[in-house]
Amino acid sequence: MGPVVNAPRVHVVGAGLAGLAAATQLAGQGRTVVLYEAARMAGGRCRSWFDSALGATIDNGNHLLLACNRAALAYLDRIGARDALAGPQACVFDFCDLRSDERWRLRPNPGRAPWWIFSKARRTPHTSAGDYLRGGKLLFAGADATVADALAPHGALWDRLWKPVLVSALNTKLDEASARLAAAVVRESLGAGGAAARPRVPHPDLAAAFVAPALSFLGARGADIRLGARLRGLQFEADRVRALEFGDARVEIAPDESVILAAPAWSARELAPGITAPTEHRAIFNAHFAHAPPPGTPLLTGVVGGLSEWVFAFPERLSVTISAADDLIETESEDFAEKLWREVRAVARLGEARMPAHRLVREKRATFAATPAQDRLRPGARTRWRNLVLAGDWTQTGLPATIEGAIRSGDAAAALVGRTA
Ligand SMILES: Cc1cc2nc3c(=O)[nH]c(=O)nc-3n(C[C@H](O)[C@H](O)[C@H](O)COP(=O)(O)OP(=O)(O)OC[C@H]3O[C@@H](n4cnc5c(N)ncnc54)[C@H](O)[C@@H]3O)c2cc1C
Repeated sequence: MGPVVNAPRVHVVGAGLAGLAAATQLAGQGRTVVLYEAARMAGGRCRSWFDSALGATIDNGNHLLLACNRAALAYLDRIGARDALAGPQACVFDFCDLRSDERWRLRPNPGRAPWWIFSKARRTPHTSAGDYLRGGKLLFAGADATVADALAPHGALWDRLWKPVLVSALNTKLDEASARLAAAVVRESLGAGGAAARPRVPHPDLAAAFVAPALSFLGARGADIRLGARLRGLQFEADRVRALEFGDARVEIAPDESVILAAPAWSARELAPGITAPTEHRAIFNAHFAHAPPPGTPLLTGVVGGLSEWVFAFPERLSVTISAADDLIETESEDFAEKLWREVRAVARLGEARMPAHRLVREKRATFAATPAQDRLRPGARTRWRNLVLAGDWTQTGLPATIEGAIRSGDAAAALVGRTA
């Protein structure tokens, strides 16, 4: 699309991935974008920084994407960063049971017909094809069902596949997690074949993949990016937003201008009175250890029978992720780090290697709680104000809180604004 001459400005509040997706869509269409971000850096819950204790750049959390994340891939294409995802050529997920040191590799075949479930060499050990077929019940679960209601919460398939995969996808314990949200993830990934479920990780880090190229893209298109600008209030007049209030500054919104509120749920609820939004959140815990993985260590290993859920092997670092980690948020650091290090050592076969420099990162409100009740609180993008549109992983995307959901919400908000321009 060519530039839109003298088109009214669009004000995007929040430079997480939802806001960046909306801003880059609109700037790419030639719209004049003003982007406001409360923090001194963009990225929101996708942040990277140089950690001097580790001597490396780390992410606030290890982020996993899948090849089926079409909006995320289109976003990377748009900002010129398609090559910023790494991962295996085929769909492989390595696992390790810490109790027995048993290791296996899940290898779904690329196509839609899931013949891999009939192959002992490709499926999870101690499971049968029937276990997977019974898992299809998840796809037909009602809106109030939890994952544990829909799937029999015991047995090898539960312990070795559903639990590690779905707890991390939903960041919510499975006895309270929405079966409908889990089904949405399964339908788009494994349900669409191994090619769709191929694991992808940002490379070399989250900011380099998803944030810095977006800021360059916006800068090159004349967007006005204001970091350290926390929106304190929206001023409304009849059915529209009339002004943005930043404490020290006020921005008038002309009648033909629009505002995309891409702040997190708790912030949006305060700013836009009367909107519904999730009220409960769940934590994610990451531990980064400055130890290079031995050659051949899989990019990620699902861990069964320990505290760790996934161990990621980056070039100079081994990192642990634990989702739905609210119970662990106050844990005493050093003891806990030691425990996790022993697990990492076992997974990566490091023998008695001493614990290296490490960093524990706790994200208390990492995602909204993906329960049926919280899912019902998620609003659509439209609001009762004609020039105010919502975006964020917590809006009703049909997915749990993920990069893919955040980007889809930003794209949807941009499309709505585009239509009303
Ligand atoms: C540790 C961790 C691990 C994760 N792992 C994965 C994963 O493996 N795969 C996956 O797909 N997803 C994962 N996620 C989820 C993913 O990071 C989020 O879904 C996504 O980043 C949310 O983007 P967002 O733009 O909706 O929200 P945010 O990133 O929260 O962005 C909102 C922005 O608005 C700003 N803001 C807030 N209030 C104001 C205000 N008043 N004025 C101006 N600006 C404001 C904030 O500073 C923030 O930058 C993980 C999240 C965490 C925290």
